[in-house]
Order: sequence, then C-alpha cells, then structure tokens
Amino acid sequence: MSEIFPGIHWLKMPITLEQSTLAHINIYLIEGDKGYLLVDAGWNTDKSFSTLHNFLIKKGKSFHDIKQIVVTHVHPDHYGMAGRIKQLSGATIAMHHIEKDFIEPRYISMEELLHKTDRMLTANGTPEKEMVVLRDASLDVEKYIVPTMPDKLLHDGDTITSGAFKFQVIWTPGHSSGHICLYEPSKKILLSGDHILPKITPNISVNPQSIENPLGRYLESLKELRKLDIELTLPGHDQPFRNLKERIDEIIYHHGLRNLEILVAIELQPKTAYQIAKEITWGDNGVWQDLPPFHKRMAVFETLAHLEMMAAESRVDKLPRKGVNYYKQK
Ligand SMILES: [Zn+2]
Ligand SMILES: [Zn+2]
Repeated sequence: MSEIFPGIHWLKMPITLEQSTLAHINIYLIEGDKGYLLVDAGWNTDKSFSTLHNFLIKKGKSFHDIKQIVVTHVHPDHYGMAGRIKQLSGATIAMHHIEKDFIEPRYISMEELLHKTDRMLTANGTPEKEMVVLRDASLDVEKYIVPTMPDKLLHDGDTITSGAFKFQVIWTPGHSSGHICLYEPSKKILLSGDHILPKITPNISVNPQSIENPLGRYLESLKELRKLDIELTLPGHDQPFRNLKERIDEIIYHHGLRNLEILVAIELQPKTAYQIAKEITWGDNGVWQDLPPFHKRMAVFETLAHLEMMAAESRVDKLPRKGVNYYKQK
C-alpha cells in the first residue's frame, strides 16, 4: 500500500490464476470530500477482498467510505469485484457506455458469444479439433466476477470529480472497445488502465466484441495521448511510471515489427490468421506450442488485428476461400 501521489492510494491486488502472466492488478483510491473514488476493482477473490478491506481498516474507514467506482473496462481483473464492493458500500459504478453492453454477453448469458467466437476461430483457420479448447479457454474465470450493471454511463470528454481531482474521461478503444483512461490535467496524471502498461504490450485483438480495425484505433488513440502533458502514469498492471511518451513510442514500434513479421510469413503464399499465429514468436521468443489455450486464442485474434489493420492500409489482400479467410502480402 502506498500513497503514490498526495491523495491517491495505490493497491496491488493479487492475481491467483495460473494462466495469467501478470503479477497483480493495480487499483487506485482517490480521496474526495465525502469519500473515495475507486478506479478499477480487481478479481473477486478472498485475497483481493482482504487487500482492500485491510487498507480501509488501516485508514480507519469502512466500505461505506467508497462513494464512486470507475471501471476502465469490464475485463475480469478490473471489473470482477466491482459488484461486491457496490453491495457493501452503496457506491455508484461508472463505465463507458460501450463496456456496459459487454456485461450480459460475457458474464450472464454466454452462449451467443461462445457461438460467435466459434465462428470467428473457424473462419480464421482454426482446426476443428482445437476449436472447442480455444473457444472455451476463458470460461473458468467466470467465478471471479460479480456481474453488476453500471449506475452511470460515461462518454469521451466527461468529467469525474473527487475532492481536488477533476478527471477527464478519455475514450481509448483498442484493448477493449469501451476502454477509458482518466486524465487529471492540473496534476499531470493519467490513469491508463490496460491501454498503456510499462513493460508488456496490451493485447489488441479482433474478437466478437471488438470495433472495426481495433489495432488501428488503438494506435490512433496512443498518438492522441502522446500530445498530452503527463508526468505520472498509473497503469492497471505493474509499476507506475514517468516516461509515457517513450513508452508510447516503444509500443508503436513493437506493433510495426509485428506487422513486418506477419508480412514475411505471407510473402509467398496466402495463410490464415491461425497459420500465421503458429509461425511467429510470442512473448520473449516464445513459440505457439508452449502457449496455454487462452493465450493461443489471443494469439490468433491478435494476429487478426494486425491483418485487419494492414488490409485497411492496403498492405495485404484478404482472400476468402470456402468460408475461411486467407491473407497475402500485396
Ligand atoms: Zn484488460
Ligand atoms: Zn488488465
């Protein structure tokens, strides 16, 4: 627990899932006149719950002192425990209006989303015997989520006030279609969620809930953030950092390299996103065979995000054949 900036408390919430490569999820409690604004909530696990509870006890506070909860996006690590905290505190939950529409299909009635994922994996070359494993790869995380509808829907440009802090809501689609960052111009602080992380590049994929050309939109929104005056970035994972512009440049460079790697793979013959994902490197020189199913699925959909962006830029041709999409360098 630490006060990372006067009035902003940073808590590292544990991630206990084996499939996660992330050590923890960061949540931030921002002091206000009547109580805290909580940004992101962590997984709904006993460990996460006691991390937050212990913080409140040490401060001589209770759950009732949490007045607002803002969720940067509805992935389980950021949204999972928001509903449980709301039940205990009576706090309002706010999120971007696009994210609200993902709650029901992701966490309440999942059949349609599974069906769409199934079709998308098949259309991108996933062999039938692997399809079910990849499609169902994230089902085991559902128990760590308390699905709760937001009380307030946010739009780009909205303001969220907590005491001396006035955060601007910045819509940053890409990692999730309704992902938001919070920017405090007078304090030069950015709460970046999963949009910008200090070490790993966030997953940007084409999936049944993504907007058109998510990687293109993601890179555009990075360039917009680069123009802002920001000294301290408070990310959703890993450590807070100060070199935001440098980090943005690194992420843009990384995606450029990945494009080149993909282009080389489809220089001579058309391939599906699945075939390409099997050939290129993942993580620190990792290979496809070593990835767990959830990461394999992300790898296929991440490859697809690159292909869709390069198709929009006329760098690759999309060649549908018998319901399966192949891509070839132009
Ligand atoms: Zn996320
Ligand atoms: Zn995350």
